[in-house]
Amino acid sequence: MAAQETVEHKYVYDFAEGNKDLKDLLGGKGANLAEMTNLGLPVPPGFTITTEACKAYLATGEEPDGLADQIAAHLASLERAMGRRLGDPQDPLLVSVRSGAKFSMPGMMETVLNVGLNDRSVVGLSAQAGGNDRFAWDSYRRLIQMFGKTVCEVPGEEFEHALDEAKRAKGTTNDLDLDADDLRGLVDEYKKIFLKHTGREFPQEPREQLDLAIRAVFESWNAERAVLYRRQERIPADLGTAVNVVSMVFGNLGPDSGTGVAFTRDPASGAQGIYGDYLANAQGEDVVAGIRNTVPLQELEQLDKKSYDELLRYMARLEGHYKDLCDIEFTIERGKLWMLQTRVGKRTAAAAFVIAGQLVDEGLIDLDEALHRVNGAQLAQLMFPRFQLDHEFQPVAKGIGASPGAAVGKVVFTSARAVELAAEGEDVILVRRETNPDDLNGMIAAKGILTSRGGKTSHAAVVARGMGKTCVSGADELDIDIPQRRFTVAGQTVTEGDIVSIDGTTGKVYLGEVPVMPSEVVQYFEGSLDPEHIDNALVRAVHRIMSHADAKRRLAVRTNADTGADAARARRFGAEGIGLCRTEHMFLGDRRELVERLILARTDDERDEALAALLPLQRDDFVEIFREMDGLPVTVRLIDPPLHEFLPPLEQLAVNVAVAQERGEDVAKEEALLAAVRRMHEENPMLGLRGVRLGLVIPGLFAMQVRAIVEAAVACAQSGGDPRPEIMVPLVGAVQELETVRAEAEKIIEEVTREKAVDVLIGTMIEVPRAALTAGQIAEAAQFFSFGTNDLTQMAWGFSRDDVEGAFFWRYLELGIFGISPFESIDRDGVGRLVRIAAEEGRAARPELKLGVCGEHGGDPDSVHFFHEVGLDYVSCSPFRVPVARLEAGRAVVETDGSDSR
Ligand code: PEP
Ligand code: MG
Repeated sequence: MAAQETVEHKYVYDFAEGNKDLKDLLGGKGANLAEMTNLGLPVPPGFTITTEACKAYLATGEEPDGLADQIAAHLASLERAMGRRLGDPQDPLLVSVRSGAKFSMPGMMETVLNVGLNDRSVVGLSAQAGGNDRFAWDSYRRLIQMFGKTVCEVPGEEFEHALDEAKRAKGTTNDLDLDADDLRGLVDEYKKIFLKHTGREFPQEPREQLDLAIRAVFESWNAERAVLYRRQERIPADLGTAVNVVSMVFGNLGPDSGTGVAFTRDPASGAQGIYGDYLANAQGEDVVAGIRNTVPLQELEQLDKKSYDELLRYMARLEGHYKDLCDIEFTIERGKLWMLQTRVGKRTAAAAFVIAGQLVDEGLIDLDEALHRVNGAQLAQLMFPRFQLDHEFQPVAKGIGASPGAAVGKVVFTSARAVELAAEGEDVILVRRETNPDDLNGMIAAKGILTSRGGKTSHAAVVARGMGKTCVSGADELDIDIPQRRFTVAGQTVTEGDIVSIDGTTGKVYLGEVPVMPSEVVQYFEGSLDPEHIDNALVRAVHRIMSHADAKRRLAVRTNADTGADAARARRFGAEGIGLCRTEHMFLGDRRELVERLILARTDDERDEALAALLPLQRDDFVEIFREMDGLPVTVRLIDPPLHEFLPPLEQLAVNVAVAQERGEDVAKEEALLAAVRRMHEENPMLGLRGVRLGLVIPGLFAMQVRAIVEAAVACAQSGGDPRPEIMVPLVGAVQELETVRAEAEKIIEEVTREKAVDVLIGTMIEVPRAALTAGQIAEAAQFFSFGTNDLTQMAWGFSRDDVEGAFFWRYLELGIFGISPFESIDRDGVGRLVRIAAEEGRAARPELKLGVCGEHGGDPDSVHFFHEVGLDYVSCSPFRVPVARLEAGRAVVETDGSDSR
């Protein structure tokens, strides 16, 4: 018998073994380091430990079998390549240990630099650096600080405090003024802090340092802030992180060294050019943390032309290779350029559109790919309003426009306060000197973020851009006093609760509330900006990509609108009809009195009188809507909510009646009303007398509405219009309900259209699970189905749509029962299955059956993709989401069907 071969799981990949397509396994950073290595770019040698190893560790709490040996083998080969041994006392190899998940999670997980330093190798490092003791001791203290904080959970402030003390003793505020002796003393202090908190000496054994650092990176996947970030960014919780072990290069070896971040195009506007920040004589973490103010990358040309030119060459090479905006981290060690990271860079929504358009012009990608590279969430952001500025408003400070948008709110200085006030419904602006990952909760809660330090690549900027949140960073005129909760600027003091307005596009900061106006993209959709005739790269790019989406998409996009004004706006935004005209608002305001009469009617005549009074008002409502949507379908839904919603609340009425009785007033009418409200009271109104049930119980109600719709259509047709009414019956669960309403409606249609022929379709909402499951029968009586996914979700899950989101969804999200509220994005497996069944069985019974969706999901990007897959004819959503739905319907084609077209 052949010997059983045991194949060992491969957990470690040398950079030369990977490539950019292995992100699942090597994480984004590892895969891209491998890609750059294979492109021949100068990447410090190293290896990547896979996400599989991380997952195995997190599942068991132990490194998987074979991992330690594989690390040893790769370390040995790294040592051979570098001609140095890890932590060697004479000539040490040092490594960094860096996290790197599939999706970038800036600053969320851990990094430890300078692993391999100890009491002996620090001397060797100094010799390597030409006798630079200061550098060696500074590197050692950084290791103890990062290792202590990251691996052993020593409170970071203790190290910060010791560093501040050392500077104070020296009479300086600048780290660079500390000399080798000061730093040696600081190392001793740091070791004491380490011992105090961990009960053990700082580990001197290099391999132990390495193993502990790797373990800490694995564990940082489940750190609270990382979990929170993933939830916010909808990154799956089970991916795990890879760990990159990279030989150290140093940007802090003197003025001919430094470190920086570069973008191949402007990540804020998309403009072509060289963008980035550079910091001489520093390590990478100093730039990202925004601790010291950087200089623009262009200044590197003066400082080190050779490295600068080389960097530009690599940037062009990377952009051509990735066919996209790349962001790059690099270090210069004594005049030698090293590439430490690249990835397809995060960008603002505006930049996403502009860059996609440019890349098409440059022939690097086609329009399908351009469509794939933008998304509806970005388009929605571009539709946010802008500041309307006149001379009344002068900025008090100007920082860097780090993440665009116009945000107005009350100033808060701590993450906790931001969360608190936001929970009370206040708009807040989080003001910090700089942010760090502990501020994440506050950043999520705030409308905007304002910092006094840091560039476009600071933590605040990167995270805010990722969230699509307005951010101004590096507004250094602001003198911020966090403990006192105030800042001063231009001679004025702003305290917590004062209102400021920040413009994330221009970086300007205003005191007080600046009014806002529609964005350029909205002006374009409104038709007031002509993309062919204006010099606006964003509007042109949006126009081009939207046109392509429209050409590609198979789903039509309608709107939910119940006023002429909404219908008109939605039409300008590209709506191809109305998918849901709710009629309930037409029973409010001064028509309440008629509704009361209808409900209180004691005789048929009284009821008919009330209905007759409502008829002309309803007819006028519909005439206006048909005119605005002339030539396009308008689905009018017969009244849905329970009638008692149109009456005063029970408690209030009871009190009023009691008080009036007390005063001896005539309360006969109020008493009748009270009795009616009591009679109609329901424990579960959502499951009670509403929708079609109401139409079957109150004689003449639906008939009046049908007559108003058809008379309005006839009137429009008679005056030369082209009305396309579709009458929709809500909450149907059984075909018999629909048949009853339909028989009555058909009689009215027949009678009213005798004057002038108008086609009127009759269909139903599918929003009760039973309707979905008996769709084959229901289709016999319906010319169209419109999925009411709000109610369908409510009834499929048994979740009260008015209560549960605020009540307990946080727990469901925390437990991962779902990643997003099923009221926001369609639950494909459950509610989606009902939609699929109904679509298939409905079409089987009636092939020409028209299928649409009019629940909130009709404007949700992910749900639009689902409805495309199921093969619906249209989605319908609120006017502002129409462009988003058009875009996503186009994207659904290029993503699911490849080359399909309309
Ligand atoms: C629905 O239930 O999805 C729907 C569109 O109707 P409404 O939201 O008015 O109940
Ligand atoms: Mg409904």
